[in-house]
Amino acid sequence: MIQNKAPGKDVSLSDMKEKFPLASKKSDSHFSRFEISGITFGDELIPVMAGPNMVESEELIVKTAINVKKAGAHFLRGGAFKPLSFPYRSAKYTETREEGIKWLGVAKKESGIGIITEVMEEKYLDIICDVADILQICSRNMQNYPLITAAARTNKPIMIKRHYGASLRDWLGAAEYALIENNEKVILCERGVSVPHTHRDSSRFLLDLQVVPAAKEVTHLPIAVDPSHATFWRPWVEPMTLASIAAGADSIMLEVHPDPENSAVDPLQPIDFNSFSKLMDKMDAISKLNKRYVRNV
Ligand code: PEP
Ligand code: MN
Repeated sequence: MIQNKAPGKDVSLSDMKEKFPLASKKSDSHFSRFEISGITFGDELIPVMAGPNMVESEELIVKTAINVKKAGAHFLRGGAFKPLSFPYRSAKYTETREEGIKWLGVAKKESGIGIITEVMEEKYLDIICDVADILQICSRNMQNYPLITAAARTNKPIMIKRHYGASLRDWLGAAEYALIENNEKVILCERGVSVPHTHRDSSRFLLDLQVVPAAKEVTHLPIAVDPSHATFWRPWVEPMTLASIAAGADSIMLEVHPDPENSAVDPLQPIDFNSFSKLMDKMDAISKLNKRYVRNV
């Protein structure tokens, strides 16, 4: 039961009525269900978004699109515009920007898979909307309200990643900025939070699985989980993906790369095509326990 208490870090009943009435559930059984490019979110299917961290080259993204689709993924992920934590770049470690968006268009055409990609700046929305089926707002932009407003006004579905320091309350505030623009296709994505201990010094975040059932108590929006960014460590991706499904995740985002060790960004976290396909089978098996499914092909 949500408490009606003074405003604080956690969600109160008055927040649900006054701060984010559009993101809040109206009844216990209120859950949004909507279609994006033929795939329904918030229903029994748990859509999977898979692909490299970065759209590195045309060849890489086309190959990945074909292979993740073959393995059963519902959307191809990949950033052409990237929120890289530090400003330095090298020939390998650089954003492909407008060209990368074009390559995503080629990948979509050659594979038929839908695209989710990141929007960093309002001025690129037009070119991104030409190929994207879902606009991703990254964790670092979760509180960039003008960007969320502009993205929502395009009427493209939006996925808002939770900032690694944000409360559920602030995350729902960000979603309200999209919903208030009459854009009802909003997905939330947990991607790990910043805490003192992550159990490996290469891991920057801890997957907050508890936020999945917590969010579902208060919001009707689909909750996705990205175990790749959360764990930062390949061997932990599979167990935390399966745990995410068991926890009630409505969608999963995974980093999948043809040559994970040589990924231009975050090479410790992507999995290869074969591991992804096997993981899809396990995800499907776990989801059946909750009367849901992952594989529809
Ligand atoms: C991403 O998905 O590529 C990404 C940058 O994620 P996050 O915003 O969660 O760091
Ligand atoms: Mn990343």
